[in-house]
Amino acid sequence: MADRPGIPEDPSVGKGIAGAMATCEVCGNDYANSFVVVTHGEEHPFDSFECAIQALAPVCRNCQCRVIGHGVESCDDIYCSAHRARKAGVTGLVDHG
Ligand SMILES: [Zn+2]
Ligand SMILES: [Zn+2]
Repeated sequence: MADRPGIPEDPSVGKGIAGAMATCEVCGNDYANSFVVVTHGEEHPFDSFECAIQALAPVCRNCQCRVIGHGVESCDDIYCSAHRARKAGVTGLVDHG
């Protein structure tokens, strides 16, 4: 029984990120209190909201800021606020709250 093919080199590979430390996909930081954001069916591990925003927050079409609030969408465009959207010529949008 000396031949035992198929033994993985690293047992930690392929275990996934559930219940374990995850490496931030933005800065690569290994952080015990990291969290996972699931969007479009994909899991994205982050060590901070700053990194999550950097990776996932859409960019306003008008002022290029990161849209971290509700934002407003018009067709495929997203704006940080209806005010900004109106400035860009989009009508019929109302700010949340
Ligand atoms: Zn990070
Ligand atoms: Zn904006």
